[in-house]
Amino acid sequence: MKKRTYLLFFLALSLVLCSCGTGEFVETELFAMDTVVQLRVWGEEALLEEAGQEIYRLAALFSVTDESSELYALNRDGTADLSPETVELIQTAAALSARTGGAFDPTVYPLVQLWGFTTGEYHVPGADAIAQALDDVGAEHLHLEESVTLEPGTMLDLGGIAKGYAAQRCAELLDQGGATAALLYLGGNVQTLGSKPDGSDWQIGIANPGEPSEALAKLTFSGSKAVVTSGSYQRYFEEDGRTYHHILDPETGRPTDNGLASVTVLAEDGTLADGLSTALFVMGLADAADFWRDSEDFEAVFILENGSVYATEGAAAMLSGCEFTVIRR
Ligand code: AMP
Ligand code: MG
Repeated sequence: MKKRTYLLFFLALSLVLCSCGTGEFVETELFAMDTVVQLRVWGEEALLEEAGQEIYRLAALFSVTDESSELYALNRDGTADLSPETVELIQTAAALSARTGGAFDPTVYPLVQLWGFTTGEYHVPGADAIAQALDDVGAEHLHLEESVTLEPGTMLDLGGIAKGYAAQRCAELLDQGGATAALLYLGGNVQTLGSKPDGSDWQIGIANPGEPSEALAKLTFSGSKAVVTSGSYQRYFEEDGRTYHHILDPETGRPTDNGLASVTVLAEDGTLADGLSTALFVMGLADAADFWRDSEDFEAVFILENGSVYATEGAAAMLSGCEFTVIRR
């Protein structure tokens, strides 16, 4: 979609003005970054429109499939004229890859393509094809010295971090524009800004991986926070009676298979929360718990395929609605 079309599409969506016991807010729903986006803002209607347009703008930069995106040009040519936002996101992705020992890996795109997650033409690749794709996967094939350069065959996928970045940017934009509060929902990403005018806490549900339309538990907190969930239920296909999901282990080239069904990360920063939710999913419960013990900047809730729930100390203090085991430092 071209920019003008985005705008028209956005304006065509009705803005809803509500006063439902939490003060007056405006809200809208749109589709961007392959997901439903819901924006609720306690503030001027113009701010809501600005936030929606910012999401469309960023989506157009980071799309891996849109032939007019910056990322598409970079993947095709190995180098491209990139806007500061794209460079910033690639640098953040690379830093996160280093911090997580490669569990988060923005160079995973050849594998994502191979499994059909880009086109929707899903299939289980042969071992040879996976081995061949793995040759081009790894942060060492991405160079950030003077400009962003990819070695031949290497391609980036920012899908594991872009929604969090967009939510973070929107929250900043709304804050600078004078919004009292906001609740932003981009697929599995939730971002809150400020506190609701009635002083009540934010209550954010965590999906039941077995029944994603239902909440298994909820997180209650005040103030600005990002709450991001990565789950095997969010995108998957079935072949020969087996399920294959979209969070790939860059070591094996296959969907991560470690007993986790979802990971929810809480952090101040949306980009970090998004990248980490993907990374912790790949690490698995034990390694992710150790990683949390060595970190200070996030909390997490883990839901296993067998239904048991684990929460880091900080997350445990906000979690209710289910039984869980506390992960301590
Ligand atoms: P998320 O839903 O944030 O966990 O992101 C999942 C998306 O990130 C997938 O659909 C892929 O596009 C991409 N992805 C898959 N595996 C990885 C990985 N190990 N590191 C970084 N991105 C990944
Ligand atoms: Mg993520």
